[in-house]
Amino acid sequence: MSTYAMTWNLDSLFQGGSHSSELKNYVQQLEVHLDELESLISSFMPPSSTDETEPLHHMIEALQVAVKELEEFSAFTSCLQAQDVNDTGAGQWLAKRSELGARLNNVLVRLDETFITIDDEIWTSLLQQPSLKELSFVLEERRQKAADKLDASRESLINDLSVDGYDAWELMYDRLVAKLSVEVEGRSLSVGQASNKLDSPDRSVRKEAFDQLQKAWQNEADVFSETLNHLSGFRLQTYKHRGWENVLKEPLDYNRMSAATLETMWNVITDYKQAYIPYMRRKAELLGVDQLRFYDVEAPVGKTDSTKSFQEGASFIIEQFRKFSPKMADFAEMAFEKGWIEAEDRPGKQPGGFCTSFPDSEETRIFMTYSGSPASVATLAHELGHAYHQHVMNDLPVLNQGYAMNVAETASTFAEMIVADAAVKEASTKEEKMTLLEEKVQSSVAFFMNIHARFLFETRFYEERRKGIVSQDRLNELMLEAQKEAYMETLEEYDPTFWASKLHFHITDVPFYNFPYTFGYLFSAGIYAKALETGPEFEERYTALLRDTGKMTVEELAWKHLGVNLEEREFWEHAVELCTADLDAFMKYSEASMEG
Ligand SMILES: [Zn+2]
Repeated sequence: MSTYAMTWNLDSLFQGGSHSSELKNYVQQLEVHLDELESLISSFMPPSSTDETEPLHHMIEALQVAVKELEEFSAFTSCLQAQDVNDTGAGQWLAKRSELGARLNNVLVRLDETFITIDDEIWTSLLQQPSLKELSFVLEERRQKAADKLDASRESLINDLSVDGYDAWELMYDRLVAKLSVEVEGRSLSVGQASNKLDSPDRSVRKEAFDQLQKAWQNEADVFSETLNHLSGFRLQTYKHRGWENVLKEPLDYNRMSAATLETMWNVITDYKQAYIPYMRRKAELLGVDQLRFYDVEAPVGKTDSTKSFQEGASFIIEQFRKFSPKMADFAEMAFEKGWIEAEDRPGKQPGGFCTSFPDSEETRIFMTYSGSPASVATLAHELGHAYHQHVMNDLPVLNQGYAMNVAETASTFAEMIVADAAVKEASTKEEKMTLLEEKVQSSVAFFMNIHARFLFETRFYEERRKGIVSQDRLNELMLEAQKEAYMETLEEYDPTFWASKLHFHITDVPFYNFPYTFGYLFSAGIYAKALETGPEFEERYTALLRDTGKMTVEELAWKHLGVNLEEREFWEHAVELCTADLDAFMKYSEASMEG
């Protein structure tokens, strides 16, 4: 076995970093391709018969070239920025990327408008032509979304007004949050820094940080209720004009899922989560308190001393992957060997981790800082899961490679589950086993309770907002009710100002930035349950499922590859049962550890 480098190789993509002349040429070529696409759209005339496939076909081809190149360029700039936050050359490329990204967005709006000008019957039969058939789902989806909106001139008015009347509320929110500061342990901290203290193993630190944060959010609640009310008001007004009755229409369409699927998922969770009530009590005992408070739910209960060198972590992951899928293992091995992973711990790197795709060179790069802890082994496996997802899609048309947020984490969570389970099995002491299991149970609690509370709050808030402004006191009340319900009254203290502190309620890009997380988690768990049940033959089915994530609804995806109906309970029950099996194991080990 070879020794793997902890730094990535970017030169094999574009030689010379942010001063690369290869990159410069590539971006020039992309701009030429954008020009060509724009002129094809400008000269497009709706076909008068089904024989005229060529103009549409050309336009789509040109679009795919531009999208592919823009993604390639974008991915490279992300890597440059991440590896060295002080690289000013990278900063200039980021500005270029925003400019070209905005240009492509405008092009897409115009392109979608050309779709609606095509007669229904001609459109349907064009999509059956060999050159377009493969893309029929994504093209139909684009056309339908455009048709659901108002006519082009009114939509463009909305877009123009959004800059100052909608997106500006999010910017305002960000500005106001950046100005907040709180005093914790005698030091003045930003809210981000103070929020990090909520993970402290020391309860008095968590309590102080929480109390100070509550005070800060409550002090500014009048201002944040303005930003939230106006942002949501703009959204609702736009929906009203488009004739959209249901506030969930946009997020469900975006995630390519049905209302029935969403409802079934939450119903199953609600029925099963009673099982977590004893866990909340056990965790309180382990932390030495009578009852958990909001800031205790994610507190660590034990510790693990075991660490793995990068080399050991890599071998462990490859070995565990191989038990499920030799293809996944071979892929991971290749990624390590070819230097697709940046894992070194050094100053000047961006925090966090990501995986980014280069659809033109058909490669990926993973960015993270590896510490050797079980959590960093899990992160590495997680990012390799993302990379494998991209890998199996490489030969597909780029328009069929786009998947929504709810399935984006399928492969990564799946990979993480494989490795986390193996780590529990491998743990040498009972305490270590218990700690690792507790981390898994904690994730379930986050998806079943915390995210559920966000969903309940947001749904109810939008209902009330339709009738008028929702006061800050009412916002607190709605949040408290949602949390009590989602946490099944298990906590001694909740977080009523969570509506103000959680950025996700204030982003204009995607509404309901919550349920896709829970969907993704359980969707992966359900797939993992199938894999355990099926054995080695599952590899083929798994790969085929991943390949289809960009070109069908989630219901079609699950039916085609797993033979299950997501609108029915069965799949979700199996998925939740996999989580409650960890819960049972945790209850067993923690009982033993308390007696011992
Ligand atoms: Zn991820």
